[in-house]
Amino acid sequence: MSHVLILISAPDDPAVDDSLLARIADAAGADATQAQILAPGKAAELPLKSGVDAAGAARAAAEAHAGLPVDSVVLPAANRRKRLLLADMDSTMIQQECIDELADRLGRKADVAAITEKTMRGDIDFPTALRSRAAMVAGLPASIIDEVFDSAITFTPGGATMIATLRQAGIYTALVSGGFTDFTSRVRGRLGFDEDRANRLVIDDGGRLTGGVHDPILDSSAKRTALDELAGRLGIGPADAAALGDGANDCDMIAHAGLGIGYRPKPKLAAVADAILHHADLTGVLYLMGFREAEFAAA
Ligand SMILES: [Mg+2]
Repeated sequence: MSHVLILISAPDDPAVDDSLLARIADAAGADATQAQILAPGKAAELPLKSGVDAAGAARAAAEAHAGLPVDSVVLPAANRRKRLLLADMDSTMIQQECIDELADRLGRKADVAAITEKTMRGDIDFPTALRSRAAMVAGLPASIIDEVFDSAITFTPGGATMIATLRQAGIYTALVSGGFTDFTSRVRGRLGFDEDRANRLVIDDGGRLTGGVHDPILDSSAKRTALDELAGRLGIGPADAAALGDGANDCDMIAHAGLGIGYRPKPKLAAVADAILHHADLTGVLYLMGFREAEFAAA
């Protein structure tokens, strides 16, 4: 199987120049004469020479650009452009954890965020942690969600361009979150996802959060099930799907997808991802699929 080495820089520090390409090609056993520039200074790809071990090339490339704001990823050259993307929401498409921001309205952000952090590292059972955190925001009026969304939530750079470009290319996009529909529906609307799936907070007749969560809980295995369902609907297999996330509850779908991408991932997720983005913004997902910057859609 032939492989390609993809280099992507931090968006505001374009470090992928000719000298870096030559140095990394030399270290990793890639062919610098066949380099394709995906975005000048920001992204390029190089084929590995035949017979070069992909895992060894990935390690050598990482050592060769250590200290630079550059991500390197080795992927099979075939079937890079997928037909489906599933994306996590909290700390992936947005830069916060929504439940932490809700708890902030009750002065309980630190308590809730501590549980969120442990959950996303995979140190606590997800459904238990979800219910205990939801219980901590009981009593808040549901109407506060609009205000929290507008004042506390920021979108991860590159996300809107990523979704617009994927959709322009006919790739189906789904926001699949262990958070709550009150937020995913708003993020879907703003970024243009085809659909969203998440957990539902229970709201009482007076319009307040009861602290409960409707069954079934959307957890890590449900994210993987969502991948299979959506792929089945599109008549494709998991090899034609990409999945993107940051936390332990993304592990199942990311391990299952043909292209599993960890964005600033927790260690448990990094261990199962095909590609890790530490420096790139979310347009890095597009370079991994072989898009050039000139093909990006206006967000
Ligand atoms: Mg997340």
